[in-house]
Amino acid sequence: MAGKSIFIDTTRCIACRGCQIACKNWNRNGASATRNQGSHQNPPDLDANTFKLVRFNEVETDGKPGWYFFPDQCRHCLEPPCKDIAAGYVDEPVIQDEATGAVVFTAGIKGAPFDEIRSSCPYNIPRQNAQFQAVKCTMCIDRISAGLKPACVKTCPTGAMNFGERAEILKLANERLAGLKAKYPKAQLLDADQVRVIYLVADDPGKYHKNAVASLSRNTGKVA
Ligand code: SF4
Ligand code: SF4
Repeated sequence: MAGKSIFIDTTRCIACRGCQIACKNWNRNGASATRNQGSHQNPPDLDANTFKLVRFNEVETDGKPGWYFFPDQCRHCLEPPCKDIAAGYVDEPVIQDEATGAVVFTAGIKGAPFDEIRSSCPYNIPRQNAQFQAVKCTMCIDRISAGLKPACVKTCPTGAMNFGERAEILKLANERLAGLKAKYPKAQLLDADQVRVIYLVADDPGKYHKNAVASLSRNTGKVA
């Protein structure tokens, strides 16, 4: 499988939110009006201005509280359900870039019902902007087509975000997983054979986010 991939090693994420802000900056997305909801997660969810969101999940282990960080974004599925659903309404509403594999919404996606696009996504990613257009991460298609890294990867200070050829990224992810297994027996890669954005988590995926893996949401049709 050619093309590019992103590897997100959550064990190296310190939740600095540099990736979240770099994404906003590159896409010229403004701030979202929010209020304190008792969590450092801000805004509370992905939205039309936030294609990448660092999720903060509070988890108690052996009576001690801790944070599980999950920089959430479009997974750039190898066989994207959003593309299949939208294609039933208009021509070429979603493209899969031949060179990179990036899944990109075109202006034509406005012709497909947003609710169906969103509920087709096993990771609950697409959001709708003020112009009624479905929006999400593009893998920085403009940057990567010019040989640059996605803005989020370029910004990450810890090595949590990695980008490259899919084969190299899979190798890196599997090596990192093997190195962590002794310390974290539940460590795993999430849906690595189905997506281009591959997460490594150290514990049960559901402790990080309810839509961390496709199987957590695929059969429920939930879009909450
Ligand atoms: S994660 Fe969702 S929005 Fe992204 S390519 Fe897959 S189905 Fe489409
Ligand atoms: S920039 Fe890196 S360390 Fe900071 S929140 Fe994003 S993934 Fe985590």
